[in-house]
Amino acid sequence: MRPLSASKGSGQRVHGFGSKKDAWRWKATKGGDFSTKSAYDIVKAAKTRNINSNPTSEILKEVWNTPATHKAKVTTWRLVRNRLPTCDNLRRRNIQIGVEESWCNACCHRSETCKHLFIECPKADAVWSGIQQWLGINGPRPNDITEHLEAFTNLGKKKHRKTLRALWMCITWLMWKNRNESRFDGKTWDVQALIREIKVMFWCWIKIFKLSNADVSFSSWMSQIFDLHAL
Ligand SMILES: [Zn+2]
Repeated sequence: MRPLSASKGSGQRVHGFGSKKDAWRWKATKGGDFSTKSAYDIVKAAKTRNINSNPTSEILKEVWNTPATHKAKVTTWRLVRNRLPTCDNLRRRNIQIGVEESWCNACCHRSETCKHLFIECPKADAVWSGIQQWLGINGPRPNDITEHLEAFTNLGKKKHRKTLRALWMCITWLMWKNRNESRFDGKTWDVQALIREIKVMFWCWIKIFKLSNADVSFSSWMSQIFDLHAL
């Protein structure tokens, strides 16, 4: 905000004629006098513009409108905002976790951050790769959570975007569930078992949330390769 700048801001210098002196004029009010309310309105409008042009806000709005379970929506929201209680996030909130304990328990090589757990970890990468191969939708997998979600959503045609966004949310929710079961219940991290679980769960979502009217049998859905365009 430049309330008293010469031309494009909210203030304007008015040159007087004859005996009138130069004076500052506040452009945001009719009479040219400054008021706190007019300044507040300018700040509020700028803030609204920023929120509306923030891509993360746009994506989160789409996430809430995606047909998915509430738990998956909340997990996606926390993931995109980096609010999931990964070991790395807990340590940053001063919660005491040993260095080795904070390693990813899927690969045991790197610190458990959201980005590692859902994108960089070789196990997570194998899950994304397996799902893409299954649906025949190979494409880039950016190294950023929000960009990853966007890229995955845009792998299909326009009519499949909502389905792909829902699938991304289903995958990440089950990855997080799998992580918790692995960390706290000693479940073994098994890529193929997780891919099978994702396929079964998303089959249920398609029926529950009516993501497609296509008559697809469960056996063809579960087969090695399923053509996304059949949906
Ligand atoms: Zn890992």
